[in-house]
Amino acid sequence: MRYVSTRGRAPVLDFEGVLLAGLATDGGLYVPQAWPRIAHDEIAALRGRPYAEVAHAILSRFTGDAIDDDVLRGIVEEAYGRFGHPAVAPLTQIDSAEWLLELFHGPTLAFKDVAMQVLGRLYDHVLERRDSRVTVIGATSGDTGSAAIEAIQGRERASIFILHPHGRVSEVQRRQMTTVHGANVHNLAIEGTFDDCQALLKAMFNDAAFRDEVRISGVNSINWARIVPQVVYYFTAAVSLGAPEVAVSFCVPSGNFGDVFAGYVAHRMGLPVERLVVASNSNDILTRVLNTGEHRLTSVAPTMSPSMDIQVSSNFERLLFEMHDRDGARVDALMRQLATERAFDLDPAALASLHGLFAAGRCDEEETLATIASVHRETGLVIDPHTAVGVHVARRLRGRRASPMVTLSTAHPAKFPDAVERAIGTRPALPPRLADLLTREERYTVLPNDLGAVMAHVRAHKGTVA
Ligand SMILES: *Cc1c(COP(=O)(O)O)cnc(C)c1O
Repeated sequence: MRYVSTRGRAPVLDFEGVLLAGLATDGGLYVPQAWPRIAHDEIAALRGRPYAEVAHAILSRFTGDAIDDDVLRGIVEEAYGRFGHPAVAPLTQIDSAEWLLELFHGPTLAFKDVAMQVLGRLYDHVLERRDSRVTVIGATSGDTGSAAIEAIQGRERASIFILHPHGRVSEVQRRQMTTVHGANVHNLAIEGTFDDCQALLKAMFNDAAFRDEVRISGVNSINWARIVPQVVYYFTAAVSLGAPEVAVSFCVPSGNFGDVFAGYVAHRMGLPVERLVVASNSNDILTRVLNTGEHRLTSVAPTMSPSMDIQVSSNFERLLFEMHDRDGARVDALMRQLATERAFDLDPAALASLHGLFAAGRCDEEETLATIASVHRETGLVIDPHTAVGVHVARRLRGRRASPMVTLSTAHPAKFPDAVERAIGTRPALPPRLADLLTREERYTVLPNDLGAVMAHVRAHKGTVA
């Protein structure tokens, strides 16, 4: 399997190459040169198989010769063996033709674990083969940092440094990072805001000498290896509900467009997907572009579903590439226009190519609370605010269709106790394996908002191997 850049000017790489590169050298994102297809019979044969087995079947189509078959099998078995539910991603019915796909049974209680747990192990394998190491550096306001730490913790060939704004992340989110004590895990509480953390991160990535010295690497969702493991649960959910004979619709609470793009990939591979519904909170750039063709950046407003509070949806570029018939020069021109004018308009033909498959809607803060409350009243289930955004939009847009509608439940409600309490009056409990989170010992280093100080800290501690 070979990969090409969405901007058309970067070298063609294999899976190992894109795993290590992250972003392409022309600023684009890597996608497969051709979509692998899965035949009708092969899809049917996935029904009832253990999750790790389906994961192996799907991932092997993308890893090609780059990862040994037995190695890949071992990686997915180990990664998904850590999940708190034997089905890994179980379905729960909430209405006659409506389901939730629970993606929050991983170590940090959000769907990002599904891909990160595989990514950390892939890194170790590939770096061992090359006798090399990386230093993963990231900035977080919440979910991504803890999922990355859990994934890199204890890995032989990687260290991780996560910057968070000191005193400005929720207690649950901070503790999910700072109570993980691998010798290769370094939490840095920066005396500043999330934007300051991002500026420090960017400065480190842009410093070529530093980048080479510490072998810096990122783990954000532009890495193709983070998309592939998310394709798997579209298959497991759809076959449980009757695919390939039945077409299933999915509603995806979206921020960076990675998760919903994985659904698009499943569709391109041959899974019968009736509709992919993109759900946004009040930061609704995705809803606006899909409904009107106008892609315009605005400011970000904080919401109860913070993991979707984004302005630039980086993975949308992968869909742009597809809707422009894989014309990298065209995508490059649009992205340049976005950088200078903060906006671009899709041409009607490109937009029309998506209709029929994609639909999009937004959910504001009031509607988020009302949906948490109504799902609780009707079913007794407690859902988190990100899931609520999805359920609200799924219900509004599905109309009278009788085909199954699956909303991706992206986080455990206990990660967002304040919003849940506002909606239903009680605080959700953490699952038993995390019940002592609030009393575990925390470890982090407070640093000033100063590039020199942060770089010195990374240099001094990067070599610490577990
Ligand atoms: C990251 C995240 C999302 C958004 O996923 P994207 O792939 O960025 O669209 C939604 N819900 C939760 C809980 C998340 O952590």
